[in-house]
Amino acid sequence: MQTPDLVDDIAEVLIPEADIQAKVRELGAQLSRDYEGRPLTLVSVLKGSLPFMADLMRAISIPVTIDLMEVSSYGGAVTETSGLVRILKDLSASIEGRDVLIVEDIIDTGLTLNYLLRYLRGKNPRSLRICALLDKPARRLVDIDIDYRGFSIPDRFVIGYGLDYGEHYRNLPFIGVLKPEVYSAP
Ligand code: 5GP
Repeated sequence: MQTPDLVDDIAEVLIPEADIQAKVRELGAQLSRDYEGRPLTLVSVLKGSLPFMADLMRAISIPVTIDLMEVSSYGGAVTETSGLVRILKDLSASIEGRDVLIVEDIIDTGLTLNYLLRYLRGKNPRSLRICALLDKPARRLVDIDIDYRGFSIPDRFVIGYGLDYGEHYRNLPFIGVLKPEVYSAP
């Protein structure tokens, strides 16, 4: 992959920066009300959820602790997920008895999250809920209740605000779609 021309490679901005930031503030306010007086831990999944986690935690006005996991799916093409998940970085503290909120960038097939939910449930949190910035319902393979949802988007491969193509474009502040020739470039 050539060094991308970040802005020139974009075909369309699906969700502008201002809309993301407004939604994050809304989610943060709702979470602050819903978890008032409860021991909330935000668990985010690297690397794609990094900007969302960083913005969301600052939009929450009650005390929270945070933890980070990193997972990768085995095999599959770059734009597909295979459903087999490997934990590259585990939680660094116990979540037993805590109210846990998984902070995810995007839920596509749901296979990654389904695995994570089973894994985290095994650690006996008091509650376990999901907050996802983006939901791509068209491709869902497993039923997942998303407790807090930012935006529902069509079945397109998106980049920006943490989401990558070949590890690039994560630093764009909006969610967009790449020009077709970018995917076909050698
Ligand atoms: P799932 O297991 O729900 O199919 O996929 C979840 C993961 O696949 C996401 O955390 C993300 O890393 C990746 N993914 C799914 N859809 C997209 C997309 O449209 N763009 C990017 N960049 N990654 C995606």
